[in-house]
Amino acid sequence: MSATATKRKRRKLAKRWACDNCGVSVGRIGGEKVELPESWTSDRDGTFCLLCRRERAAQAALDAAPEDCGLEERAKLRRSAVIEFEVRRRPGHGDGEIARTCRSSVAAVAAARRRLKIPKPH
Ligand SMILES: [Zn+2]
Repeated sequence: MSATATKRKRRKLAKRWACDNCGVSVGRIGGEKVELPESWTSDRDGTFCLLCRRERAAQAALDAAPEDCGLEERAKLRRSAVIEFEVRRRPGHGDGEIARTCRSSVAAVAAARRRLKIPKPH
């Protein structure tokens, strides 16, 4: 598989999409093919729903954390990983909206944007 061809987002069709992690699935009752839901991903790692994508982003941050990282520190890492995930996923959404999605604060979202160098939408 060429590395350049996969970058562009192409919606794939399937009769049913099932999350490899939690097993939730989407599809039409009639069985006609549907596009992968906007918020899902499907690549060589598998197919994941939005909740599991968030969870995987959080888990990746925790995996990268040092072993001696305390509980509080890990909870913080997890929260910021989810915020960063949402900022990357929907950079055009306002900070307040992303904060609500992540049950976080506008300040935390703004800080994540600065870390990611993703400017605020106008
Ligand atoms: Zn899932």
